[in-house]
Amino acid sequence: MNTFECGCKTNGTIIEYCSKHQAAGDMYEALKEITELAPRDKLRLPYAIQVVKIADEALAKAKPKED
Ligand SMILES: [Zn+2]
Repeated sequence: MNTFECGCKTNGTIIEYCSKHQAAGDMYEALKEITELAPRDKLRLPYAIQVVKIADEALAKAKPKED
């Protein structure tokens, strides 16, 4: 069994996810929901703009690479 720094483990065939990576799908959906709910044309507070920007950037990292 190989253990990664985050806590994920694999024996080469089966991956046993750490709690963070186990929750990745849920976190992805939550961020998507946040960015979809944000009234982009009405965001005025720098804080709100920053929150949506951070969420957008995190979602972009999860996008499959096109080559
Ligand atoms: Zn992990």
